[in-house]
Amino acid sequence: MTTLREAHDALLERALLLDAEDPLSAYRERFIGTETDLSYLDGNSLGRPLKRTAEDINTFIHSGWGGRLIRGWDEEWLELPQAIGDQLGRAVLGAAAGQTIIADSTTVVLYKLIRAALAAVKDPARTEIVLDTDNFPTDRYLVEGIAREEGLTLRWIDADPDSGVTLDQVRAAVGQATAVVLLSHVAYRSGFLADLPGITAAVHDAGALAVWDLCHSAGSVEIALDAAGVDFAAGCTYKYLNGGPGSPAFAYVNARHLPGLAQPIWGWMGRRDAFEMGPGYEPAPGIRGFLSGTPAIFGMIAMRGTLDLLEEVGMAAVREKSLRLTAYALELHDAWLAPAGVRLATPRAPEQRGSHITVDHPSFREVTAALWDKDVIPDFRAPAGIRIGLSPLSTGFAELHRGMAAVRDLLPRH
Ligand SMILES: *Cc1c(COP(=O)(O)O)cnc(C)c1O
Repeated sequence: MTTLREAHDALLERALLLDAEDPLSAYRERFIGTETDLSYLDGNSLGRPLKRTAEDINTFIHSGWGGRLIRGWDEEWLELPQAIGDQLGRAVLGAAAGQTIIADSTTVVLYKLIRAALAAVKDPARTEIVLDTDNFPTDRYLVEGIAREEGLTLRWIDADPDSGVTLDQVRAAVGQATAVVLLSHVAYRSGFLADLPGITAAVHDAGALAVWDLCHSAGSVEIALDAAGVDFAAGCTYKYLNGGPGSPAFAYVNARHLPGLAQPIWGWMGRRDAFEMGPGYEPAPGIRGFLSGTPAIFGMIAMRGTLDLLEEVGMAAVREKSLRLTAYALELHDAWLAPAGVRLATPRAPEQRGSHITVDHPSFREVTAALWDKDVIPDFRAPAGIRIGLSPLSTGFAELHRGMAAVRDLLPRH
């Protein structure tokens, strides 16, 4: 019979083996702070910075901002939203050039995209927006506000909080009254990975348009927006793309929708020939028309390192490591947490998992506070969940082992 001690050591040995066999392990050292014993399990909320990013920002301050001053706009910065958008499209989104732009926050970008999608639906009989009860709060609030502005009806899909919105649920919700469907690709709480190609096709079969929120999938799972025929998508760059706190969001608009498409925030940066400063708004052609105000250059400089890295490594390898990390997290959960009364709130099937798992226990609000004091950093999501976020390029298996051992040790004993 194996003792508890031996079982524990076997799990540690597995972590060491998984680290040794991990083809991406060397990339972990390129991130600031990974040489310490801190266990960071929240890269799905705020990614760690690359060491290179410190240099990139320093160079930008001294040579770019400090050296080129206002000339920087003409020389480089005005083009960055599209240049970095194209790189993101190529490296992460499966999007050909000219369809992705960096701008605003996810909340504002989603607002612009949903309103643009509604404007693109020409049929006045389509008066419903479909969304789900478990989507991220900002997504739900936005659609509530837009429905009020536009006099539209909300059709809610009742999502299972331990998994997420299924293809069958979408098929049942859409019809001749549907204008737009808004869903998250990876559920922020459960980590459920939705069937993006299948659902997009079902939305199109119903004659409606699909808007996808990619906040928890961009940089962690493979995405093929063009191949799936997605209409619109948005996401943040401070999670798996490591752009830093408050770095700007991205917007994707499928090229077939771009001609003549209208977005609702008419600013000078999205106008044809912004510096003409002429009378009247006329959108810039293409994806540039989705800009509104002055782009946030700092965050774009900061995300370049990760985009270069993702392009070098390839999303297939990133996804493979992510699946190994979540599988090992499930193993630790089953060995240590489930016997102590913890409940898994994430699907077990690999094809339904994003890059984090969520575990529930009534003590977890207090446990999370104690974990943070010990330099073990997951996050807490009400009512009782700890989210264990596994950022494929920067999270190690021994780091994950350390963090989940700390969760186990803080669980109340009966
Ligand atoms: C993190 C997240 C957001 C954040 O929106 P911001 O405007 O950047 O605050 C939106 N939607 C989802 C699904 C998220 O996970």
